[in-house]
Amino acid sequence: MSTSERWSAPASEVLRPEPGFRFAAADAGGTPGWRGDKDDVEDHLAKRAAHLSDLQERLYAHGRSGGRRSVLLVLQGMDTAGKGGIVRHVVGLVDPGGVQHTSFGVPTAAEREHHFLWRIRNALPAPGYLGVFDRSQYEDVLVARVHGLVPPDVWEARYDEINAFERAIAEAGTVIVKVALVVSLDEQRARLQERLDRADKRWKYNPDDLDERVLWSVYQQAYQAVLDRTSTDVAPWYVVPADKKWFARLAVTELLTESLESLDLDWPPAHFDVAAETARLAELRP
Ligand code: AMP
Ligand code: MG
Repeated sequence: MSTSERWSAPASEVLRPEPGFRFAAADAGGTPGWRGDKDDVEDHLAKRAAHLSDLQERLYAHGRSGGRRSVLLVLQGMDTAGKGGIVRHVVGLVDPGGVQHTSFGVPTAAEREHHFLWRIRNALPAPGYLGVFDRSQYEDVLVARVHGLVPPDVWEARYDEINAFERAIAEAGTVIVKVALVVSLDEQRARLQERLDRADKRWKYNPDDLDERVLWSVYQQAYQAVLDRTSTDVAPWYVVPADKKWFARLAVTELLTESLESLDLDWPPAHFDVAAETARLAELRP
């Protein structure tokens, strides 16, 4: 089966929420668009990894040759949705030297003195880089809204601010891919329990995660508003079911691949005379 046979349509089409999409009704256990067998996931991923890695290297070469393009992958999702796993297993498929990864936690005292987009702007990928945001500007309309960290008129204004910000980034040459990983309540419980049970996972457990879990439906409303108000042509959201980790990895691999392919980058031309350099190399006797 080729890639086009394994997917019923490009991941960017299947995973883009339709108008009227309800986040709360999303099927976290689904595998939309995937037609391959579970058995050949590994094999398929390995092939796609080689392609993704080649595309990323082209982007890096482009940046090193004065090109201005870059890619930004934004990862959002409830606790345990698997943002870290995507970074390890999908972003990990490409050369780490070409990746600019940032995790956004609770703003520091220094960050709080600035506009909410200040720390985001500072972390944007340089030309030629793949930027990866584990959490993002969207926390300022998710956790900030759910917990009332700022008054409603403040978070309310942020959707438009984020759209304008993303439009400017896109116009400057960055392809933006926003991924909302969807985990179900049951799967989150299982993953939290695993963090409690396993010594190698306990470090990920945060008692505060249970306080967030209680607010599940309020978060769903906040996610709904994000999808409704910030999914734009230059910065679309994709909703990726994440109860099956293998599917989330396959899907984000495809989304990232498509975004890099959209740049349509060739290897940069030599900025020197190849024949002359070849002759020089042959003649040189150090
Ligand atoms: P983790 O991703 O598990 O390391 O947790 C990071 C924590 O930082 C999460 O609880 C986020 O909700 C929180 N966080 C990230 N960005 C913000 C923000 N802008 N304002 C408040 N909390 C935030
Ligand atoms: Mg956490």
